Amino acid sequence: MAERMLKFVGTPQAQPEKRPAAERRRDFQEIYAQYARDKAAEQAARCSQCGVPFCQIHCPLHNNIPDWLKLTAEGRLDEAYELSSATNNFPEICGRICPQDRLCEGNCVIEKGFESVTIGSVEKFITDTAWEQGWVKPIQPRRERPESVGIVGAGPAGLAAAEQLRRKGYQVAIYDRYDRVGGLLIYGIPNFKLEKEIVQRREMLLRHSKVAFHLNCEVGRDVTMAELRQRHAAVLIATGVYEARDTAAPGVGLPGIHAALDYLTASNRQGLGDAVPDFESGALDAKGKNVVVIGGGDTAMDCVRTAVRQGAKSVKCLYRRDRANMPGSQREVKHAEEEGVEFVWLSAPQAFLGKDAVSHVRSVRIHLGMPDASGRQAPQEIPNSHVNIEADLVLKALGFDPEDLPAMFDTDLAVTGWNTLKIDWRSMMTSLDGVFAAGDIVRGASLVVWAVRDGRDAAERIHSYLTATALMTANGAALQVAAE
Ligand code: FAD
Ligand code: SF4
Ligand code: SF4
Repeated sequence: MAERMLKFVGTPQAQPEKRPAAERRRDFQEIYAQYARDKAAEQAARCSQCGVPFCQIHCPLHNNIPDWLKLTAEGRLDEAYELSSATNNFPEICGRICPQDRLCEGNCVIEKGFESVTIGSVEKFITDTAWEQGWVKPIQPRRERPESVGIVGAGPAGLAAAEQLRRKGYQVAIYDRYDRVGGLLIYGIPNFKLEKEIVQRREMLLRHSKVAFHLNCEVGRDVTMAELRQRHAAVLIATGVYEARDTAAPGVGLPGIHAALDYLTASNRQGLGDAVPDFESGALDAKGKNVVVIGGGDTAMDCVRTAVRQGAKSVKCLYRRDRANMPGSQREVKHAEEEGVEFVWLSAPQAFLGKDAVSHVRSVRIHLGMPDASGRQAPQEIPNSHVNIEADLVLKALGFDPEDLPAMFDTDLAVTGWNTLKIDWRSMMTSLDGVFAAGDIVRGASLVVWAVRDGRDAAERIHSYLTATALMTANGAALQVAAE
């Protein structure tokens, strides 16, 4: 049934049904149900069709949100899908895991008095429906081009670039050191936020679109960057950031203390049915343990919620700032609290205690002082305020830095002071001719939606580069013929 728009005064905000916390704690399935068709239309119709849509401005992909909301309200879902997929390669993924409260929905003009339009849930609904209805089809380029592009990294940046390049008819090969496609979408982000089948059906679509995947293939070990540059007319580096930041607190080497991504990868692999010795031995299994997670970002939130589902005895999250100043999504904190996680705000680890393995985290209370050069209030330890928190599994979720790519690839790739790849922001080219870069390896640890944006932009720049190269080659050949 077609709905009229501007219904935000009379129709309250309603997210799709959320499963009760007690049920969620027992499994790894996504926590929200799908909208029913009439509910999606009703919620889309709350949009006031702003002349200057702040939601769109604050979406990194500048999705045409008001238009696809209107089409959804009118029941024209096939058109809504066409529009939504024109600017986003993975709308159903972004709809699930974007921190909408900081992006589109946080900037929706009706947010203040009436609560925002549920943009992410409608976006997810449109594309999930498109998959169900068979509207999502493999790419059949209008014409094939002979040039091939090699992409290093099968995360969202590499996959978005691959799709865009394939649409233009390029031959695309993706190399990844993992055995599965998806990067952090598969091995970082847990099932309860993004079920693996959602990523795997995207992989199948790309395979059916004739994108070639070379998995278990680490560039720098199994194939060199020099070989890739010979094989392909252009190369895109989209390798993400994987060097886990650490703490120097005494006792950090004790057994029972692990990097967050090792823990999450083990849990994701176990869920996918792989043999995971570190999980089976109990080392990376939270069952029956007092778990302390250190950090306040997305990774920390995923760790605490995974530990709850594995049957931990208690789960605490230690963060040195307060709730208002944490980098993770507020929605995730709410979900975690509902599921029984205890947040210990304004606390930092001072030492890890234990004889043969960790038994306690000695934490100190923090006071937020004057803003520092970055504008954020500097955390300061409060003297003599320490407490010992019981812990037999400690997970360090302190952020990620890039690996040393110039050394790994044996090239003189230029890097920034943060070790991210230096690119020319107009051409997105690195210091090596014909080698481009996109995603976290350029931005530092960021978001999936930004990786998609970068992948799309890089595909455009690679196309311009290859078109210019082909023209120069043609002109050079013509001049040579003329000279002869
Ligand atoms: P990645 O996804 O990291 O993919 C890089 C790929 O490159 C990997 O597959 C890797 O195996 C491969 N690779 C690396 N080096 C080599 C090499 N030498 N040879 C071959 N292959 C190589 N973002 C959100 O928007 N919402 C969230 O809820 C969210 N949750 C997150 C939870 C966790 C635990 C983490 C760690 C991150 C989360 N993020 C989230 C961030 C998001 O996952 C990343 O910003 C995004 O995946 C970056 O995409 P990418 O393609 O640049 O890199
Ligand atoms: Fe919002 Fe993310 Fe969708 Fe953009 S891609 S509209 S930020 S959910
Ligand atoms: Fe609709 Fe909100 Fe976007 Fe305005 S800001 S167009 S009300 S979704």
